[in-house]
Amino acid sequence: MHLLLVEDDPKLGRLLARLLTDDRHVVELATDGEEGLEVATEASGIEAIILDVGLPRLSGLDVARRLRAQGSQVPILMLTARDTVGDRVSGLDAGADDYLVKPFAFAELAARLRALSRRASRLPQTDAVKLVNGPIELDEGRRVVTVAGDELNLSPREFALLECFLRHPGQVMTRDQLLDQAWPYGVEVTLNAVDAYIHYLREKLGPASSRIETVRGVGYRMKQDTAQG
Ligand code: CA
Repeated sequence: MHLLLVEDDPKLGRLLARLLTDDRHVVELATDGEEGLEVATEASGIEAIILDVGLPRLSGLDVARRLRAQGSQVPILMLTARDTVGDRVSGLDAGADDYLVKPFAFAELAARLRALSRRASRLPQTDAVKLVNGPIELDEGRRVVTVAGDELNLSPREFALLECFLRHPGQVMTRDQLLDQAWPYGVEVTLNAVDAYIHYLREKLGPASSRIETVRGVGYRMKQDTAQG
C-alpha cells in the first residue's frame, strides 16, 4: 500500500517507516500535523494514513477531522499514547477507522493495515458500513439506526452501546467492556449507568430489544443473527 505515516517521535517514525517498507509498503513520513495534512491532501494515491494523536502544530484528531471535512475517505489508523477510552472515542469520532494503543507490536499494526485495506477495497468509496442484526440496522456512516425500516432517535451513548453489541454478536459484553467502548474518557460513570443506558436503549428498540439478552452477573449479549432472525 501507499501509506502516509504521521509521527513526531523521530525514533518511532523511522523505525515504523523502515518496518513498513520492509513489509513492501511505500511510506511517506510526516513529522507534524500540518505536514501530515498537507501530504494527505496533496500527495496522490495515499491508500491509508497511520496517524499519531499527539502531534505538534496540529493534533492527529484535528488532522482526521479536517480530512473528513474535506470529504476524504482514506482509511485512518490512529495511534494513541494511552489506553484511554477518551483517545479512542475521540479518534473514532474525528473520523478514524481504527486505533492502536502504544506501545504495540509491529505485527499488530501490520494486521490492522491488512484489515483496513480489505475494508477499503471491499466497500465502494461512498458506501457506509451497515451493521445488521435481525430487524436492527445501524448505518455507521450516516449514524442512523432503523428497526424494521423505522428510524430510531438514539442518543450518542445509546448509539455507541448498540454499535458495540452489533460488532460483537453472540459475545457476552461485561459492563466494564461496554463502559470502555461506549463512553468518552473523563466522564465519571458508574457501572450502574451502563444498566441505565441499556434500559433506555431497550425501550427505544421495542420488540427488537429481545435481541439484547441479560447474562446475569456478567453483562449483556446480542443474539447472533440467524436465518430465522
Ligand atoms: Ca506523538
